[in-house]
Amino acid sequence: MTGQKSAAQVTASVIGYPRIGKQREWKKALEAYWAGKSDYSQTVTELDRIEAERLQHLADAGLNYIPVNDYSWYDHVLDQSVTFGIIPERFRQSLAAQIESCSQLDAGQASIPQEVADLAFAIARGTAQHPASEMTKWFNTNYHYIVPEWSGQEPQLLVNLPLLAVKRAKQVLADREAVLKPVLIGPYTFVRLMKGIPAAERSSVIAKLTPVYVQLLQSLAAEGVQVVQLDEPAWIWALNKEEQQQVQATYDALRQAVPSLDLWVQTYFEAVADYNFVTSLPVNVIGLDFVHGKVRNEANIKQHGFPADKRIAIGVLDGRNVWRTDLQAVVTDLEQTIEPVVAKERWIVQPSCSLLHVPLALREESKLPQLMVDALAGAEEKLVEIVTIANALNDPSAANKELLAASNAAVQAWRTAPERQRPQVREALKDIHQDEKLLTREAFQERLKLQEQRWPQLPVLPTTSIGSLPQTLDVRKARQRFRKGEWDLAAYTEYLQAEMKRWVEIQEEIGIDVLVHGEFERTDMVEYFGEKLDGFVFTQNGWVQSYGSRCVKPPLLYGDIAFRSAMTVEETEFTQSLTKQPVKGMLTGPVTILNWSFVRDDLSREEVSYQLAWALRQEIIALEEAGIGMIQVDEPAVKEGMPLHADDAVHYRKWTVDAFRLATAGVRSDTQIHTHMCYCDFSDMVDLIRDMDADVISLETARSGGDIVEAFSRNHYELGIGLGVYDIHSPRVPSVEEMEQCITRALEVLPARTFWINPDCGLKTRGEKETIEALKNMTEAAARARKKL
Ligand code: GLN
Ligand code: ZN
Repeated sequence: MTGQKSAAQVTASVIGYPRIGKQREWKKALEAYWAGKSDYSQTVTELDRIEAERLQHLADAGLNYIPVNDYSWYDHVLDQSVTFGIIPERFRQSLAAQIESCSQLDAGQASIPQEVADLAFAIARGTAQHPASEMTKWFNTNYHYIVPEWSGQEPQLLVNLPLLAVKRAKQVLADREAVLKPVLIGPYTFVRLMKGIPAAERSSVIAKLTPVYVQLLQSLAAEGVQVVQLDEPAWIWALNKEEQQQVQATYDALRQAVPSLDLWVQTYFEAVADYNFVTSLPVNVIGLDFVHGKVRNEANIKQHGFPADKRIAIGVLDGRNVWRTDLQAVVTDLEQTIEPVVAKERWIVQPSCSLLHVPLALREESKLPQLMVDALAGAEEKLVEIVTIANALNDPSAANKELLAASNAAVQAWRTAPERQRPQVREALKDIHQDEKLLTREAFQERLKLQEQRWPQLPVLPTTSIGSLPQTLDVRKARQRFRKGEWDLAAYTEYLQAEMKRWVEIQEEIGIDVLVHGEFERTDMVEYFGEKLDGFVFTQNGWVQSYGSRCVKPPLLYGDIAFRSAMTVEETEFTQSLTKQPVKGMLTGPVTILNWSFVRDDLSREEVSYQLAWALRQEIIALEEAGIGMIQVDEPAVKEGMPLHADDAVHYRKWTVDAFRLATAGVRSDTQIHTHMCYCDFSDMVDLIRDMDADVISLETARSGGDIVEAFSRNHYELGIGLGVYDIHSPRVPSVEEMEQCITRALEVLPARTFWINPDCGLKTRGEKETIEALKNMTEAAARARKKL
């Protein structure tokens, strides 16, 4: 474990690596344990085996530093909370015995004891008595971590999970050269992510944690560890003076306590906000993102230099996307921008962030065209890339140069591949900002009058739903039968139509005013459109962890997007033919499709979103021509694509609005455009939503209490607004009174004329019986609210 490469060499590293295994074995092992289908010893054996395979693979790849402890059985933030004894109060009492035994591990132990794992799972998944801890998005990724709950606990080294991870890694890699690099969340970021700490008290909590970090690092040093990675992605945000002083004091304390240990602070997802502060800390290695924070980090290095006593870990490969990198371009760029400031022997090259955010391997996709497979890079392929860069920098031999040239040639070939080009799309979008009519509709008040004339039968406070209706086992089976070819199109269509008809009757019976077709044909709101548009492909195994054992498989948006033929007209038209009530068409918006896909990296996200919008515009016009008067374009993912840096966010807000308008502004004034957004804090989104200019927006409010309504009224929101009057994420059927109250409160500040009533999101995950009951209560609540007007 000792022999580092000779000092005068560029070294290679990764910040973190996927956990799930090639066939998602990790997920299967966990779920079997939770379901009681395998016992703890089988589970540990399998999970340790996956970890060992991963360590072997990392060492075989030729990395100089192997990340350890980034592997987790659920979530690395949760692991750290358990390690530090930050256990939510409600679990503290009921699991006291378990917690007690966690702190008494046997010294030779390397595997995670059952008590510890069960405690972590209880916090993450909840128990019969206690709700789970909240989870939330890890910065602007689609990875969700378990939010640590601070309630003034006395932090302690409850169970030393990082030490166990090091012991296991040493067993696996006993005879290997690479250096083990345990990964921890750094003190500032850890505290910043906790719930229950007012900003003014952050520093005091960091101070409280410092002795526990010291103890932890000392234990790692005693185990022979030479370097520790402390992840501090929260340094992309500015620290106030007091926080800086505390962070300085904490790092001083760590430095003094473990003089033999190299401290490696790691940032990612954006440039650090305060470069001079970060580079002044008493650490050995500073990791910076040169992909997502490239321009700002480079400007800082150029302007302020880099401390001569530190090494720089340079994030040069995109850790969040799946495309192959032009290694030649990277090498040239490094030599031009970094080398004048930092001597090569102080470089560590690595991906921009943990590879957790990309699929494990992509070159093995057997159903994709070869040209495309050659253009992809999952985590395994990125390891090869990073080692190739290090080797080429250390040894500009002909063989290494050839590898760079080959990478450059592959990327060039992919860039210009005819399969990706659709000149007619580029042509159509050339001047979208020149032609104002393309992005603008008649004024809302005029549209409103025409729409009221078009649907005189609609009451005030009309009721509707968000689109999907319960997807029973039956519905899912039908889709599978069709996919597998067991059913032909006629049989499948017959099934879907019967289901749509049944639900038209149910919706009419309940008394819903604006009906939906139910989305029974869709497994996923992005995949469905991706499959029907040109420019997307789907992998077989491109899974990425989203939360716990849950993985998603984002589509690959690889080429210019084009509309092929109508995607939703048939089912919408069919449903409309069954009822006199208006049926609302249902589409996924351009920005959501963009944010939930892996997107090509040779075109700006802005341009890609316009291409998506252009295709959707054609679908919307087709729906309108088929007589559909209300069309909903869902944009639940707008907020999550918001850039982390405030300056970039301004531009993002502008083009996401333009993309939505490009998609929707092609319709007549009496066609009503709806949109839907959910599960985010809307307080800073009102202006953006107004600019989107949808006739009606339906929002989630159930979880955010009255604040949203207040934000919209304070900002004098004048367009239509549909309030989510109940939380669809729970099977509980809300009472009429509850929903009525919710409506009454909103109507105190919002005008009734433009007010709609709906559940707060799609109903596809709900059972049929509870859905019908809840919708009945909702229409009753609406009726009572109308009487009071
Ligand atoms: N129309 C979609 C549905 O009802 C919206 C889903 C979402 O908001 N995530 O399922
Ligand atoms: Zn929603």
